[in-house]
Amino acid sequence: MTGWPVNIDQFSKPIQKLWAMMEPCVLCPQQCRVDRTHNEYGICGISHLPRVSSITPHFGEESVLVGRGGSGTFFFAGCNLKCVFCQNYDISHHCAGEDVSVEHLAEQMIKLQAMGCSNINLVTASHLTGPIVAAIELARAKGLELPIVYNSGGYDSPGVIALLDGYVDIYMPDMKFSDPDVAEKLTGSSGYPQINQAAIVSMHQQVGDLIIEDGLARRGLLIRHLVLPDELSGSYDIIDFLAEEVSADTAINIMDQYRPCFRAVDYEQIIRRPTAEEIESPRRYARQKGLRLVD
Ligand code: SF4
Repeated sequence: MTGWPVNIDQFSKPIQKLWAMMEPCVLCPQQCRVDRTHNEYGICGISHLPRVSSITPHFGEESVLVGRGGSGTFFFAGCNLKCVFCQNYDISHHCAGEDVSVEHLAEQMIKLQAMGCSNINLVTASHLTGPIVAAIELARAKGLELPIVYNSGGYDSPGVIALLDGYVDIYMPDMKFSDPDVAEKLTGSSGYPQINQAAIVSMHQQVGDLIIEDGLARRGLLIRHLVLPDELSGSYDIIDFLAEEVSADTAINIMDQYRPCFRAVDYEQIIRRPTAEEIESPRRYARQKGLRLVD
């Protein structure tokens, strides 16, 4: 391998494979095939170095992640999806942040643990799995014991999820859409529902249903689903899929915080917030299907 800022040979085989998948990059379903080690950029807009917008104890996540000390959260810049309604577009689309080393990530994980955080929460991780998992390995060698939360837009490859086995404790992917045409229009990416569902199945096979002990998530799958106006997010089909093809005990946060941001003004159907009934109806349906609602 060429151009790497760390000695990849010192890491375990899955990490070496994840790094190799950036040269050329096939790390996510976008399959851009650019060489991220030599200043070529794909859809995510980030090189092989992780770019971080902020690292902080975060108290705005689901209560099962927060606890007393907060969720130790890394907000990574760049994203492998380009949602027109993104609420963090300065970070995800414009890649605002600072490039950091793998060693720095590991040091910050240890620091968040020392501060009393409940877990390490890796937000928008899909395009940076190589450096992130290398940092986890370094941090564990120095005493990191917290659960690792992999937080993504849900546009992930099953082959990459398999390589994360043993490094990730809690998967927290989005399920954004069930209609491929809507998904393509609003994310700019094709095949989102099919790719997303395959990723969810792989994640669940690896970690199972969400296990909560003493009020805190320890291991398992936690789905996030943001309700858009006019049923654009396809909530009922997503709930059916989870209940019938993943597990009737799947934990899901059906989120109500959509508001028009970024380029949403250009799309007539998403220039308003969902009504209270548009939120409550899928929540009722999820309960009827037996899913576990968390918030
Ligand atoms: S990680 Fe980035 S460069 Fe690599 S395939 Fe995905 S979007 Fe493209």
